[in-house]
Amino acid sequence: MQVSNRLAKVNPSATLAMSQKTNELKAAGADVINLTMGQPDFETPKFIEQAAIDSINAGQASFYTQATGLPELRTAISHRIERRTGYHYDASQIVATNGAKFALYCLFNAILNPGDGVIVPTPGWVSYVEQVRLAGGVPQAAPASDGFKVTVDDLDRVVNDHTKAIIINSPQNPSGTIYNKQELTLIGNWALRHNIMIVSDEIYSDLVYNGAKATSMLSLDPAISANTILIGGVSKSFAMTGWRIGYAAAPAPVAKAMATICSHATGNPAAVSQYAAITAFNSDGSSTEKMRQAFEDRLNTIYPLFNRIPGFKLAEKPTGAFYLFINVKDAVTNLGYDSADSFAMDLLEKTGVAVVPGRAFGNPNYIRLSYAAAKDNLLEAAKRIEDFVTGSS
Ligand code: PLP
Repeated sequence: MQVSNRLAKVNPSATLAMSQKTNELKAAGADVINLTMGQPDFETPKFIEQAAIDSINAGQASFYTQATGLPELRTAISHRIERRTGYHYDASQIVATNGAKFALYCLFNAILNPGDGVIVPTPGWVSYVEQVRLAGGVPQAAPASDGFKVTVDDLDRVVNDHTKAIIINSPQNPSGTIYNKQELTLIGNWALRHNIMIVSDEIYSDLVYNGAKATSMLSLDPAISANTILIGGVSKSFAMTGWRIGYAAAPAPVAKAMATICSHATGNPAAVSQYAAITAFNSDGSSTEKMRQAFEDRLNTIYPLFNRIPGFKLAEKPTGAFYLFINVKDAVTNLGYDSADSFAMDLLEKTGVAVVPGRAFGNPNYIRLSYAAAKDNLLEAAKRIEDFVTGSS
């Protein structure tokens, strides 16, 4: 049986592969601490679940909705964006999708012709590169030359006549880094000069710590906003990964093209999830704040524990998302492994702690661990890893 040539170039999600291995070990009875997953370890707040139940009881959840989502949902998203950034979208410019993941998939299919380039800064989230490929585009890796954030010099090195878009993800998965206003403005103006669209993935914008602020690409200058497609969703902010609601907010022609794709690809995101998301987006944010505080506490607790492990190098303390992205090159060398991948695999097999090798994010000397896990498990994981690295286990 032959699959398409397009698929031959696409890799399955590396984070999912590692968690599959973790599940196998768990099923075999191993005491596994899984720090691979990119999802809050909290349940969806009850008032949001109740909104979904109410929609079922009222008979509202039984039917198709508009392909891009219920008008009330798109209005709620538009209001939320305006409250946070000052930039206004008409509800027709909002496309609600099955998670932000599908918003990106749909977006690349809407904007790319075969061979069009998309600049993907590294480190960066695993799915960007594959999504661009799935849409027939060419990912153009732009390594951040200094730390985890690209500069216009980095972008100048990779841009070419085929470049159609650039993805900026702030706060960033995997490093938790946030671009500041000045950095975003420089990139925004660079993109305008080159006539390149900006895809601003701000899915972690609520999860920022120790006084940090996540500046939105939409809060800078109307010309930059008009050249930007914003990606967001409920997964991270409201502990709703399973509900699968995300969105793109886009200039009208892009939103229209995406709507056409959605109408044929999915029909609509599940109606019951849309009703839950309306309540989430219209809420006062106190449930998000509780979760944010828990993440901040965990970050502040575990950062020094991982930072002191011999051969582990953490850049500055992350200010957003819920990951530590650690340079383990020295530990890998000292312990005689040939790569961070084999180090991570052995770590999982010998200590039961699952992390994701950094190769998946474009930085092969790194590992990523998620602190969206119970504090006791994080403390135990830090101890197991330290013992493993120092040879005391
Ligand atoms: N963007 C980034 C940077 C992510 O880390 C994720 C999930 O891990 C997503 C988008 C997709 O989120 P979802 O499809 O759950 O809305």
